[in-house]
Amino acid sequence: MWIGMSRKMQHEKYNDAEGIKMRRIIIRNAIRCKNCGDVIESTYRHEFITCSCGKVSVDGGHDYLRRCSETPDGYIEISETAAPEEETNGGK
Ligand SMILES: [Zn+2]
Repeated sequence: MWIGMSRKMQHEKYNDAEGIKMRRIIIRNAIRCKNCGDVIESTYRHEFITCSCGKVSVDGGHDYLRRCSETPDGYIEISETAAPEEETNGGK
């Protein structure tokens, strides 16, 4: 009876799932437009903010980081994120 072998393989496959590890806490969701210099910040989930020249936008608030830009380097990233571990360590 050597059924132990196949059991071990299933266990290794399970260890590959590390999606939760990647998730970070968003403290500030903001960018600066390189064209007009505006700093735009999305503070809640459905707040879609566009800069005054209209080239870049932010959305998603503290749930997800979403950017719209005419060019990939049209803005400077100034948002702040933290790993979930850091948040629990620094409890107020
Ligand atoms: Zn702009």
